[in-house]
Order: sequence, then C-alpha cells, then structure tokens
Amino acid sequence: MNMPSDCLFCRIIAGEFGAEFVAKNDYAVAFRDINPQAPVHLLVVPRQHVSGFRDIGQLEDGALNGMLDLAVNAATALGIDRGGYRLVTNDGPEAGQTVFHLHWHLLGGAKLNGALA
Ligand code: 5GP
Ligand code: ZN
Repeated sequence: MNMPSDCLFCRIIAGEFGAEFVAKNDYAVAFRDINPQAPVHLLVVPRQHVSGFRDIGQLEDGALNGMLDLAVNAATALGIDRGGYRLVTNDGPEAGQTVFHLHWHLLGGAKLNGALA
C-alpha cells in the first residue's frame, strides 16, 4: 500500500506520533482533531492513502463502507448519535482542505452552526 512518508495522516496511522485512536477497524481509524471545532471533533481517515475524492476510485473494496461503519460506531461510542452529528469533507483547496489524505470530519456534542458555507 502506497504510504507517502511526507503525509501527516499516514504518519499518524503508522503510530509515529502515538496518537490515540478513538475507534478503528480494518479500513479506517478515528482520532481527535488537534484543533476541535465542536465538543466532539473526530477525523475519520482511511488507512489507505488517497488524496481526496478525486482519487476515490483507487480505494480498496470495502473502504468507504468501512469508513462509514467506523464513523457511526465512533459517534455511538461517544454518545452523540442520539443528538446528531455532522460528517463532512473539505475536498480541495477552495473547500479548505489542508491535509491531502482523504478524511471526514465528524462533528457533534452540541447544537452546530447551521451554515454549511
Ligand atoms: P482539512 O483542513 O484538510 O479539512 O482538515 C485537516 C484537519 O486536520 C484540520 O481540522 C486540522 O485541525 C487537523 N490536524 C492538522 N494537524 C493535525 C495533527 O497533527 N493531529 C491531529 N489530530 N489533527 C491535525
Ligand atoms: Zn496519507
């Protein structure tokens, strides 16, 4: 599996920084965002490096379902599933993507701002 050595999320997934995974499965890991925008702010990140939606066709079979399973399980484990949460991706510079390893932001734990853009 291609894991660019200069990719921050590949390095986190490889355990280089000792990051604690809130949840994980065969396809993805979830860990807390270093700059949380909500009481619960996780990053749901596929273990396989793809830069974003533009490379989604390169993801191994099952990876997207695995990511979604993990997001739902993490939200449930953290008790924000009943109140609700937001799952979003910034894809590309104009959307604000800063780490070019596909990821979903899972945000919850409070009433969220209604503005999406
Ligand atoms: P993006 O801007 O690409 O949508 O999201 C990247 C996210 O990664 C940002 O919300 C940023 O706070 C988070 N982030 C950047 N560096 C680190 C880090 O070293 N550790 C963690 N846990 N999150 C990071
Ligand atoms: Zn990566």
